[in-house]
Amino acid sequence: MDLIPSFSVDHTKIVPGIFTNRVDTLGDYNVTTYDVRVTKPNIEPNVDVAAMHSLEHLIATYLRNDPDWKDEVIYWGPMGCLTGFYLILKGNREPSEIYDLLLRAFQSVEDAEDVPGASAVNCGSYLMHNLEIAKWYARKFAAYLAENADNPDIFNYPRSERLVTEDGRQFFDS
Ligand SMILES: [Zn+2]
Repeated sequence: MDLIPSFSVDHTKIVPGIFTNRVDTLGDYNVTTYDVRVTKPNIEPNVDVAAMHSLEHLIATYLRNDPDWKDEVIYWGPMGCLTGFYLILKGNREPSEIYDLLLRAFQSVEDAEDVPGASAVNCGSYLMHNLEIAKWYARKFAAYLAENADNPDIFNYPRSERLVTEDGRQFFDS
């Protein structure tokens, strides 16, 4: 059975938000990959790489310690384009069902006094962090999510046909 999604995303129409990237079935379980898109691709500047790195540490630590959600989290990490993050959770929830979790996670960055794991023992590039600029992005995204709580566009990806490369392979970016 071909489970590869037949659509991809029209990046010219994306607004920041929380979107289902794909749902995979692993044995008896569903696993959902979400795109947590922090900036508008190719219109706004991508997230500063050091701030992105700090947000990776801060939000991963938050999600994996949240008493209600920690057992659901499989993965949190940055997109290579630095416009957002991938979040992989057990199950198959609508993006609106994880809105409160992500709002809390990004709001929590404001209170951080340091970046967890920013040391040579715990991180592969421990000097490449910027907590203050991470707070700026987190504050901006949390305010945006709060303002757009009732805007369906922050949960629905603009879809397009999946790109097929010249040698006939289906294109994926994650
Ligand atoms: Zn690191």
